[in-house]
Amino acid sequence: MEFNPTRMCELLVGLPEVEVRGVLDEPGVPLRVHVESRADQRWCKACGVRGRLKDWASVELVDLPCFGRPTRLVWHKQRWRCAEPACPAGSWTVVDPRIAWPRAALTDRAGRWATVQVGRGGRSVHEVAVELGCDWHTVNNAVIAYGEALLAADVDRVGAVDALGLDETLFFRKGPKRTKQWATSVVDVGGPGRPGRLIEMIEGRTATKVSEWIDARPEPWREVIRFGVLDMSGPYRKVFNDSLGHLTQVADPFHVVRHANTKLDEARRRLQNETLGHRGRKDDPLYRSRRLLTKGHERLDERGNEKLVGFLEAGDPKGEVRMTWHAKETIRGLYAIDDPDQAATYIDELIADMAEPSMPPEVQSLAGTLRRWRDHIIAWHTARVTNGPTEAANNLIKRIKRIGFGFRKFRHYRVRALLYAGRPNWDLLATITPR
Ligand SMILES: [Zn+2]
Repeated sequence: MEFNPTRMCELLVGLPEVEVRGVLDEPGVPLRVHVESRADQRWCKACGVRGRLKDWASVELVDLPCFGRPTRLVWHKQRWRCAEPACPAGSWTVVDPRIAWPRAALTDRAGRWATVQVGRGGRSVHEVAVELGCDWHTVNNAVIAYGEALLAADVDRVGAVDALGLDETLFFRKGPKRTKQWATSVVDVGGPGRPGRLIEMIEGRTATKVSEWIDARPEPWREVIRFGVLDMSGPYRKVFNDSLGHLTQVADPFHVVRHANTKLDEARRRLQNETLGHRGRKDDPLYRSRRLLTKGHERLDERGNEKLVGFLEAGDPKGEVRMTWHAKETIRGLYAIDDPDQAATYIDELIADMAEPSMPPEVQSLAGTLRRWRDHIIAWHTARVTNGPTEAANNLIKRIKRIGFGFRKFRHYRVRALLYAGRPNWDLLATITPR
């Protein structure tokens, strides 16, 4: 075996048609690999005459770490000038997207690698920037450029959907008043044996914006959707009414129970104030009962149950918290019923009982909500679809937000969320042109 140092160096650098000029190792800075293109771009595209070397231009690009060290590729490019004096082409510089795209700060391979690390692996931009030895913006720009191109190229990503879920997420608090900026996740909630996936992120949570997006989908895609799953929110009900009038709307069980728990919290706080005249403190029985109250009853062991009864005896003289707790548990019981007709009878009786004037105001308010959403709620007993996958997607989004230190630009947020929770076809990454 014969060793050829030049050839070995080129093998290690691993780029097509480059000659390695040298490697510079200076303390405290990234390793610098100097290369020049061997790609023959000497011939004038305008007139076909052979060009003359005018001078050299060089760019310094962030490349993949080399043996664990941050590395820069210094790319020396020939600038050619057309030898034909009458030719309008003038001069041109060597272009090779296999090395880097024009105006890119990263080599092409580093850009694609960073997109996989951040987009697919869910690593933070900061962490990847540290590994590459460059700043946050350099990596973020590359992830957005390659990520947007990947999402656009992946035309088969959104397939036929049986049940469509809509859910809101908070993506950013803006300005000194920390005004909440909302986004809507559009989710294929999947079905038996088919996992859900995040389809799209839409800025805001107004009916208009979401309807616009749905209306822009092809009609065959819209027609086959059978169910629309929503939290009990007016705007999303309007979206389904306006844009997908044919489907059956289903109130997400998780949101129904969560709403009952919210009312239970309200009752506990009100009684706390009425009986003790102050907000909950750590020794107050009602305050101490708060977690036991919202837990599912079957999840309380004997001791937990005894504690709960004790707290309520001490802090809830008129039994109002207990009644609200009972209402919550009864609503939960709705989901243990298999038969749709039985569920309908159950909820109607429940609404009538809860609306009684003797009931605490929170329970009466719950009765109103159940009445307004009655058909949506019992539709679950036929459809059996939930926004669980929507919630799962939202949790992934929250994770991205946490590692991303919050997103200010919706565009960035959308790309990151879809790359991570939208499961695009990553095989296409090798074929795309960054935007
Ligand atoms: Zn020419």
